[in-house]
Amino acid sequence: MEIALLSGIHGEKRKPVVYNIRMHELAVAESLIKTVLEKSEDEEASRVVKVTIVVGNLAGVVTDSLHFCFDEVARDTIAEGATLEIETVSATAFCQSCRDEFEVGQYDFACPRCGGVIIPSGGMELYIKDIEIE
Ligand SMILES: [Zn+2]
Repeated sequence: MEIALLSGIHGEKRKPVVYNIRMHELAVAESLIKTVLEKSEDEEASRVVKVTIVVGNLAGVVTDSLHFCFDEVARDTIAEGATLEIETVSATAFCQSCRDEFEVGQYDFACPRCGGVIIPSGGMELYIKDIEIE
């Protein structure tokens, strides 16, 4: 299972990642730490202080579990003890008929305004927003 956690440090273009299977938090944490360490090495950091990620509420990530896995995977690396901040994003969808955009629950399939067909437009985000290093 390949996980692409793409993003950048400090203002590089953010790239939401789309995937089609539910990921386990350990795999997410491993991918996250790998990216964080690569980026930090590029910057010749001695320590990772904080990592901020954005997670859509449809991304299938249990945040408590991710915190735990993050700490475990970070152990014995320069990211050990780093704070993981998780910003959650509500799911949104876009109506093909009335062009309205709104927040949706996991099982909403029709526009609450006109009953039209909706297209998910947010909630699957999973990307690194910022990495704070020393
Ligand atoms: Zn509509």
